[in-house]
Amino acid sequence: MIVFKDVCVGCGRCQPYCPAGAIHFEDCKSAVDQEICYECGTCLRSEICPVDAIREPANVYEYPRALRKYFSDPTSTHAVTGIQGRGTEESKTNDVTLRCGPGDVGIAIEIGRPTLGMGLRDIQKITRALACNGIHEIEPNNPINSMILDPQTGDLIPELLDERVLSAIIEMQVKKERLAEILRVIKQVIPELDSVFTLDVATMLEPGLTVPSDVLKAIESEGFSWRPNAKINMGLGRVTE
Ligand code: SF4
Ligand code: SF4
Repeated sequence: MIVFKDVCVGCGRCQPYCPAGAIHFEDCKSAVDQEICYECGTCLRSEICPVDAIREPANVYEYPRALRKYFSDPTSTHAVTGIQGRGTEESKTNDVTLRCGPGDVGIAIEIGRPTLGMGLRDIQKITRALACNGIHEIEPNNPINSMILDPQTGDLIPELLDERVLSAIIEMQVKKERLAEILRVIKQVIPELDSVFTLDVATMLEPGLTVPSDVLKAIESEGFSWRPNAKINMGLGRVTE
């Protein structure tokens, strides 16, 4: 995002709207730090500027900077997935697709949140750790997959590494038996990450709405604490047979 200095009247109203803290005063006008800005569009969507000085520059869609917008602006459509958001739609539609069945678990590794954001180098730390341990199950439609240069090493395309986004997510689906092994690898790389981190394990509930004990055992055996959570997209319906 940019602020047109000639138009800005220096009221400062836009600055609290930036979750990244990227807007600051420069010569009594607001300016956007282009390194910190992850192109989430919040400042523009707020319509707080009384003189329309906040504008989206043309280069916001230029590669690799476009990744900032695709990963950070919830209203943008990701060029790789064709949907809005950082991941695939699968994790939100399993009630309908039943793609992740009783013998499977979905794993999502989420890094970054507003205010902190994250650098894509952190993604590489995880893709490298997974690849080095023979784990190659990142979802084909997950945008991270298209950023991997070498699946054997987990290296990302080098020109992407300095990009910054609000958050990113690595999604996988594996057999339950592999959950503990994968959590162990993820745990090893956590101390190297330079942002906040959330680990999701998705599983089908058993009759009585209980979480499968083998899934809980794998989580706890690797030293993770857990709490149940649900993400339900209203209106999608549910397969009943
Ligand atoms: S686009 Fe987002 S990160 Fe960039 S200046 Fe606006 S609010 Fe801040
Ligand atoms: S709200 Fe508009 S006029 Fe006020 S400081 Fe921000 S860009 Fe400038």
